[in-house]
Amino acid sequence: MFVEENSNNNHMILGMLMPKWMWESLPHFYQTWMRNYISATIIYLGFGFFFYIYSYHLQRNIYFARESIPSNKAIFSQIIVSMKAIPAYSCYVTISEYVIENGWTKCFSRANDVSVLTYLLYLVIYLLIIEVAIYWVHRLLHDIKPLYKYLHSSHHVYNKKNIISPFAGLAFHPIDGILQAMPHLMALFIVPMHFSMHVKLMFIEGIWTILIHDPINVKNIWPMMGSTYHTIHHTTYKHNYGHYTILMDWMFGTLTHPKDDACQRCYILECNDLRLRTT
Ligand SMILES: [Zn+2]
Ligand SMILES: [Zn+2]
Repeated sequence: MFVEENSNNNHMILGMLMPKWMWESLPHFYQTWMRNYISATIIYLGFGFFFYIYSYHLQRNIYFARESIPSNKAIFSQIIVSMKAIPAYSCYVTISEYVIENGWTKCFSRANDVSVLTYLLYLVIYLLIIEVAIYWVHRLLHDIKPLYKYLHSSHHVYNKKNIISPFAGLAFHPIDGILQAMPHLMALFIVPMHFSMHVKLMFIEGIWTILIHDPINVKNIWPMMGSTYHTIHHTTYKHNYGHYTILMDWMFGTLTHPKDDACQRCYILECNDLRLRTT
């Protein structure tokens, strides 16, 4: 059942974008990897360029009236790091789908296999597992020094608002990115999950990481972890490790709120760089 669903997805996406001779004779696993690779690349570049044009050109007077935008060199380096990692991320997603296809997880294939209430309950538990696990994976990537030095530090070279861009969203060491995505597979061994919802959540994950690296200083909707919160993480290295929400940081004492009159470069109220304050 899962193999059939994946095979349909492969045919649909690859069939739309490539001539049949390029992929039809490849084994199922490679077709799945190709579909994940192409989808991830389109989402990354599509959303990245959308926010790039919106924030740095269409709305530049609002978001960057007093400071410089990320240089082309900084953006280009983030794109290079991401594009090098996307084949490995796609491999992880493909292996996850292989594990599901073999029936080793609690995934179910049809939405109506369970009641609406049960479906929602499973979804909430899945998201809770993701929230707790990604917080701790991220925090340990900081707290265990060799992990930080050899893996996570490459994402933290983007440590100022006018260096971070939406393109930093997937700019990780491939093992770092995969470790932070692992909870999605782990959760499937704990809670039953609708397979196509799991696939959608994997791609929403990619879009979310692009969103929290955008430079837009919008008012955060509680309890979401907006880009202003994540920018603080990039500039202090020890706050706001959370993923979709700020709840784990609140629970474990690592939360720092952005302030309205904070420095526009790092969003910290105590920053000494007065020239960058809005008021
Ligand atoms: Zn970090
Ligand atoms: Zn980041």
